[in-house]
Amino acid sequence: MVPVGVEAYRRHRRRLVERLAAAGIEDLAVLHAFDEVPRHLFVPEAVAHRAYEDVALPLGHGQTISRPRVHAFHLQLARLAGEERVLEVGTGSGFQTALLARLVREVCSIEVVAELANAARNRLEALGIGNVHLRIGDGSTGWPDRAPFDAIFVGAAAPDVPEALRRQLAPDGRLLVPVGDTGSQRLLLITADGEGWSEREVDDARFVPLVGEEGW
Ligand code: SAH
Repeated sequence: MVPVGVEAYRRHRRRLVERLAAAGIEDLAVLHAFDEVPRHLFVPEAVAHRAYEDVALPLGHGQTISRPRVHAFHLQLARLAGEERVLEVGTGSGFQTALLARLVREVCSIEVVAELANAARNRLEALGIGNVHLRIGDGSTGWPDRAPFDAIFVGAAAPDVPEALRRQLAPDGRLLVPVGDTGSQRLLLITADGEGWSEREVDDARFVPLVGEEGW
């Protein structure tokens, strides 16, 4: 028997997917991932009833989970085909990690707040998600032992593009990073072309600060 509440959540999730599609998300794999990952299990219980609204929610420890539209837009921008190895800086709740785990071959994710990292690990394990490596520590300098990466997602705002992350991109690798101060940030899409990098501003952004060696 399906436990009480699961069907209701599934319906809410379907409506969120329709809203994301209406907002311009066209990547079917991204929409499908949103249809499959139970966002209500990644937010504190007190706000779980709002998990399928297109809003950012508090995670505790002064951190927030981005609104679904932002995660969807970032994932779409990375043009993932399914075979990639990606790095995520700022695991947070683990929600985007779970989406990525469905969209690529291997996910490496680093979170600096141990309590958040441990909670994310428990959630991912409970969902049987196995293609994820989690590490507690400063992700602003990347994960050299597991580099290069086909895509790198930074979920917190850096003062400048972290050089170490740029250097850990594979040829044609994409780095998405919000850059700017706490007031205003720009989301940059950096693409490695083998010899150098091209940089494009793709959106305004509002993220919590990236701390650490290449952070604030
Ligand atoms: N996308 C996440 C939310 C990220 S919030 C989700 O789906 O829940 C940004 C996260 O980045 C926070 O958890 C914060 O603790 C973490 N963070 C900030 N600086 C970091 C650093 N240098 N290394 C790793 N994680 C960092």
